[in-house]
Amino acid sequence: MVVSDAKRYFIILTGIVQGVGFRPFVYRAANRLGLKGWVENQGSRVLIDAEGSEETIRSFTHTLQRESPENARIAELRIDPQPFLGYPDFSIRTSTAELNTTNFLPADIAVCESCMKEFNTPGDRRYHYPFISCTNCGPRYSIIGSLPYDRENTVMSAFELCGPCKAEYGSPSDRRFHAQTDCCPDCGPVLKLLDSRGVAVDSSEPAKTARELIRQGKILAVKGIGGYHLCCNAEDPAAVQRLRKLKHRSCKPLAIMARNLEAACKICKVSEREKAVLTGNRKPILLLSKRTPEYLPEDVAPRQKKLGVMLPYAPLQLLLFSDDLNFLVMTSGNISGMPICFQDDTAIKALGTVAEYFLTHNREIQIPVDDTVLKVVDEHEVLVRCGRGYAPLPIPLESGNEILALGADQKSTVCITRNNFATVSQYIGDLNEFQTYHAFERQIEHFKGLFHFCPDILAHDRNPDSLSSRYAKKQAGQKIAVQHHHAHMAGCMVENKLTRDAIGVIYDGTGLGTDGAVWGGEFLTGSLSGFTRAGHLEYVTLQGGDSAVKEPWRCAACYLFALGMDPHEFLPQVDSTSLNMAQKALHSGIKCFKSSSMGRLFDCAAALCGFQGKIIYDAQAAIELENLSQPDVSDYYQYRIEDTENSLILGYEKMLNGILRDLQNQVPKSIISSKFHNTVIEATADCTCRIRQKTGLEDVVLSGGVFENTYLLEGLISRLRDLNFKVYYNRLTPTNDGGVSFGQAAAACAILKENNNVSCDSGQSNQYE
Ligand SMILES: [Zn+2]
Ligand SMILES: [Zn+2]
Repeated sequence: MVVSDAKRYFIILTGIVQGVGFRPFVYRAANRLGLKGWVENQGSRVLIDAEGSEETIRSFTHTLQRESPENARIAELRIDPQPFLGYPDFSIRTSTAELNTTNFLPADIAVCESCMKEFNTPGDRRYHYPFISCTNCGPRYSIIGSLPYDRENTVMSAFELCGPCKAEYGSPSDRRFHAQTDCCPDCGPVLKLLDSRGVAVDSSEPAKTARELIRQGKILAVKGIGGYHLCCNAEDPAAVQRLRKLKHRSCKPLAIMARNLEAACKICKVSEREKAVLTGNRKPILLLSKRTPEYLPEDVAPRQKKLGVMLPYAPLQLLLFSDDLNFLVMTSGNISGMPICFQDDTAIKALGTVAEYFLTHNREIQIPVDDTVLKVVDEHEVLVRCGRGYAPLPIPLESGNEILALGADQKSTVCITRNNFATVSQYIGDLNEFQTYHAFERQIEHFKGLFHFCPDILAHDRNPDSLSSRYAKKQAGQKIAVQHHHAHMAGCMVENKLTRDAIGVIYDGTGLGTDGAVWGGEFLTGSLSGFTRAGHLEYVTLQGGDSAVKEPWRCAACYLFALGMDPHEFLPQVDSTSLNMAQKALHSGIKCFKSSSMGRLFDCAAALCGFQGKIIYDAQAAIELENLSQPDVSDYYQYRIEDTENSLILGYEKMLNGILRDLQNQVPKSIISSKFHNTVIEATADCTCRIRQKTGLEDVVLSGGVFENTYLLEGLISRLRDLNFKVYYNRLTPTNDGGVSFGQAAAACAILKENNNVSCDSGQSNQYE
């Protein structure tokens, strides 16, 4: 029946609307409302042609926005009136292969409740099938080779659908309608168990055998969604120790996969907010406070108050648990520092010395994706590492250009922009590792292919010696250099939609400053396109280049030399020959550099509090220092701020003298750590107030790797709020160098807007020092 006042509209939707069950949802909603017309995937968008009364169409668009599938994300909805045609029904049309210019790709989604139910139902044709999935769940980004997101463009093309699966796939009312990952035991991927050399182990039920091996204390490599994990029983101290030894990972915390929420609550304190993150459909590793006394062996995360916990997200992982196996170590399947293994042959080569068995399968992984790491701060989810379930990460960013931002060398990510969106890649790693650098190049090529992306502009760090800058140099196109800490500030501003000028407190490890020194304790004022250095941590001369970062005692020794103190007295853990050599090198100026890095000041404090030897993982000394701190201490040391007309210098002498005095008086290290943290908070707030007085700026942006320190971040947020500042910090992108690519893109966009022809440099063109 044609309604007399019937109208016809095109409804055009962009965003994450493919691979998430969007068309079946549209089909059902349209039929429910009695609309006629059709829906179609068009590469970068979904087009709906709908006929019905004005009112029905209005309520339809309402439904589209309010009730869209869990994993969908509508970035834009446009409505265009069309001449009425009088369609007889509503249908789903097959995808048209127009050129893709989308910025959106669905991320990998954890197994959904409907699939879990089938998985646990004896007699269901997918009972205990480790590759069960539907339109609402399953791998996406990690299996897509090209767009549009159709089966033939994913690794699922290797599996031809059987009769029953084909029927589901073709039925609009079925949960698996057009589910590209649909399969079953008759037609889909199969598990296999291999020994450490890659030879098949005879087992009719590989998952069950694997579980038995884990129970016996063995170490297994298990192929997951974005790569391999190394896995053992977390309640078995000997297995955990052996895994550490074989992986050459002496003390870096290991992530735990808990069987379910109940198990997670047994080992950690879990707030309501944290429960929602743990059980949500993205299943990141969530950093949670351990319960005391510790339930799992101390060796899982030594000297840490927090533990990284996730729940099973691939159906395969569900098969590894049992009533007496509730906690598994699930650490990235790599050799420390290298990228995660995701291809079967290289995994066996690389992990064969660690894993005694491999639980693997014949569904390939297209692109490696590590687990995401997240924490809840100030009641907000804060991304620490972008990976599975989150990558590729779309963030609105006003931009007319196609920019490729190359990020930092550490915790590398890359970011592309166009159509007013930025898309950030998953965590890649440390580019100084040859294999990681290779993964970085591969990731860029993958993005180019996937998004039909052809950058005309490259944004990179202003340090020409950084690997990402060297990469940029070799490419065609315009280059924009962005100062490292300004990138941190710009990224944080954009994700918080901050367009006014702001004060940036950027506390970080290292980044080349505009004066050639190593920066990292910076007070910047400015906008996305440029900054003024309003203040900084007082310079100290550090000796030793990279080893100053790797061996925190070297930082402490240099600070002590600068204060005219004898390091032998305060660093009893270091032998005097090493100290004497460092002193000589410092005096003769060998490998010396000026540093205002807050990260190094934390290293110094950590060494004074007894941190020994080399750090094994990034920021280890500072992390252990934070773990020493006690929340009930409110004292702080004295500090001094030199306030000149142009710049503030936050001095270190007074606060370090305070630490040294406490050490001489044998004050407990936990109190010293707390007082040091409190001093940084007080002194920072003080500097920020002085900058407000001079500039009138009231928005404060906190960014940089040092703000991974939750004690510092939460303390400073609350102190600044007490002082009536508006405080912003990173939530969508990591505060560490993983957020730098997005920040570079944000700064580059703003610079282009202001100055749209020549190559420029966010430091140079706006340097007022
Ligand atoms: Zn599902
Ligand atoms: Zn099948």
